Amino acid sequence: ARKFFVGGNFKMNGSLESQKKIIEALNAAKLNTEKVEVVVAPQALYLLNTRAELRKDIGVAAQNVFSKAHGAYTGENSAQSLADAGITYTLTGHSERRTIFKESDEFVADKTQYAIEQGLIVIACIGETLAEREADKTIEVCVRQLNALAAKVKDWSKVVIAYEPVWAIGTGKTATPEQAQEVHVEIRKWANEKLGAQIADALRIIYGGSVNGGNCKDFLKFEDIDGFLVGGASLKPEFHNIINVHN
Ligand code: 13P
Repeated sequence: ARKFFVGGNFKMNGSLESQKKIIEALNAAKLNTEKVEVVVAPQALYLLNTRAELRKDIGVAAQNVFSKAHGAYTGENSAQSLADAGITYTLTGHSERRTIFKESDEFVADKTQYAIEQGLIVIACIGETLAEREADKTIEVCVRQLNALAAKVKDWSKVVIAYEPVWAIGTGKTATPEQAQEVHVEIRKWANEKLGAQIADALRIIYGGSVNGGNCKDFLKFEDIDGFLVGGASLKPEFHNIINVHN
């Protein structure tokens, strides 16, 4: 059975003060971390103090990473340094990285593989834009992004796929659970064909895009939805309800 996975992507938000409050609230909350793998991704500036202060049954993730250990790469995050600091997860390929910072499929795949080599677990994000969905290209786009990953990634046990339709991110407009399940089924089918049944069965495929404390339950009835990647709502107390959605 696949362990349910809930990630909180704080994006470029927060202050020292608000970050401290979030950590204190998570530390005090009754969270079902035996059944659910929980990870939070604060902005880079807060990674170290979050790791130091946060309860140890919650993982800490970088939001981005670069595909080199060290060197003249001003402004980048080293996967090796993250691992050294106990930051054992990273996101890659978030749609905001792909669209705003023009990251290509290949670049995303390179860093994904590199981060895995450094011992990190990678939450690799894929998803289509509204125009792509309206042009019936959803599966084509997801498969293109997945194929780019598959060309580089060697150990799929270290990957969680986050399906985040771009039109559902930060818009308050979620994909319906049916729409999400439909794509998750196609992703698993792809994994089955490309990577084999064993990897496909074990691969966690989580949904992201306007998930909140109210709508998260609706996704549970679909067996291919193995968790959530939560943006806005992860900064709020309702994040605890999303983590405990099975209770
Ligand atoms: P929202 O939950 O704010 O829509 O963001 C989703 C997301 O991008 C998580 O990575």
